[in-house]
Amino acid sequence: MSRDQPVRSTLPPPAPLEWESKFFQDTVKLVERTSDLMKLDPNIKHRLTTPDRALIVTVPVRMDDGTVQNFVGYRVQHNNTLGPCKGGIRYHHDVNLGEVSALATLMTFKCAVAGLPLGGAKGGVRVDPTLLSRHEVQRLTRRYTVEIINFIGPDSDIPAPDMGTNDQTMAWIMDTYSQMKGYAVPSVVTGKPISAGGSKGRREATGRGVAYTIAAAAEHLGLKLEGMTCAIQGFGNVGMYAARKLARMGVKIVAVSDVTGAIYNPEGLDIAHLRKYVGIRQVVQGYPRAEAITNDQLLRLKVDIMLPAALGGVIDAEIARDMKCRILAEGANGPVTSEGDEVLRARSDEIFVIPDVLANAGGVTVSYFEWVQGLQSFFWTSREINERLYRVMHTAFDDCVKFKEKFRTDMRTASLMLGIHRVSEAMLARGLFP
Ligand code: GLU
Repeated sequence: MSRDQPVRSTLPPPAPLEWESKFFQDTVKLVERTSDLMKLDPNIKHRLTTPDRALIVTVPVRMDDGTVQNFVGYRVQHNNTLGPCKGGIRYHHDVNLGEVSALATLMTFKCAVAGLPLGGAKGGVRVDPTLLSRHEVQRLTRRYTVEIINFIGPDSDIPAPDMGTNDQTMAWIMDTYSQMKGYAVPSVVTGKPISAGGSKGRREATGRGVAYTIAAAAEHLGLKLEGMTCAIQGFGNVGMYAARKLARMGVKIVAVSDVTGAIYNPEGLDIAHLRKYVGIRQVVQGYPRAEAITNDQLLRLKVDIMLPAALGGVIDAEIARDMKCRILAEGANGPVTSEGDEVLRARSDEIFVIPDVLANAGGVTVSYFEWVQGLQSFFWTSREINERLYRVMHTAFDDCVKFKEKFRTDMRTASLMLGIHRVSEAMLARGLFP
């Protein structure tokens, strides 16, 4: 072989990256497209489309029947330019490295859009927590925490709840981490119970933040929020608190769903009554004061506000074409596929999208408040929390709209432009090490 021959041509095609998946590829496509529109430095673009670090762990758990099962867990840190990494931990049977990497990437831009001094991370365990007893979930959580213990910390990477985890999970993580250190370290996680160093308003924060951005969107569009109709996909922590807040703002919630199906009442659902029903039965299915419809029908309903607040990837091109809402508020992370996004971009005059990195940033915003309160051992009132959350959400919304108008683009592109702009400016100012 002559020395002049291009060496590259003899190399096998590059192996796919370990974190490749449809969701990760969609996220990368979005970041690349936006970076190109911004004429971003290609080195920075490349850095922003690959996570900084990813950890894969196996988590052996003694089950109640005496057997031992091994679960696979992850923690991915996407970028820590603006501050310590921040992001939830998900327990779900579909969790994989690609999904966690995509979610970590979104966290980087979410924190930047909200103006928080934090980077992006995400974690998860591939497990269906509904099939485990409380003791099993506790043992799983404690062992997972120990497996990732050198990766997390109040100065480096701060987990929080996400799908399938809650304040109890966070209390176990905080306790395990603290036992290992020998003293209490409340700021290692956020979303803790208030009794264990949590913040007032954290549980409601994501749903409340979604409602604030919907109110801001209605105002921006010159529409009256009161009397608007809304359909919500998912009645978990995000969907339920968003429903409650929106109902108080005068919005008529006409449909709600969960994994078991959807319910619809064009006259509006009584959210307090529905919460009681779900509190007893655990599911919305069979709710007497509404008719049963499918999740697909819910997404196609003619409503003013559509609020997906469940899994990612639920709005593909076909559903995006059929949607009949005026405002799409993304309570979930990544609810729209790349193909769905293309359709929505073409329909941006009809459907105003409040993208995930903006719409659901209320959760991480109050997480940030909780982290700050924990570090200072000084706690704020509910009123202080909610006023500050309101200000952060409205400022973030206005900043995104400014980018939308300046670059004459759609809301998703504008929000990501804002996030990328803030992170890349800091990267350029800090320079490349070494
Ligand atoms: N898991 C939530 C999210 O996706 C909250 C993250 C946090 O509070 O750190 O935004």
